[in-house]
Amino acid sequence: MACRGTCIRHQAGKPGRKSRYEAGQVRCQQCGIWMIREEPGCPCCGLKLRRNARRR
Ligand SMILES: [Zn+2]
Ligand SMILES: [Zn+2]
Repeated sequence: MACRGTCIRHQAGKPGRKSRYEAGQVRCQQCGIWMIREEPGCPCCGLKLRRNARRR
């Protein structure tokens, strides 16, 4: 599936000093934007999103 442009509604702003991962944002590689999602999928293109935040 391709980007339909609806992802803009979910686009997340820049999180101050925190990194985007720290702020819980995920990036859709298909759409090329950062967004805040709780579900593991892009609402626009349906691409599965991963949280790459590493915790030890
Ligand atoms: Zn999109
Ligand atoms: Zn997407």
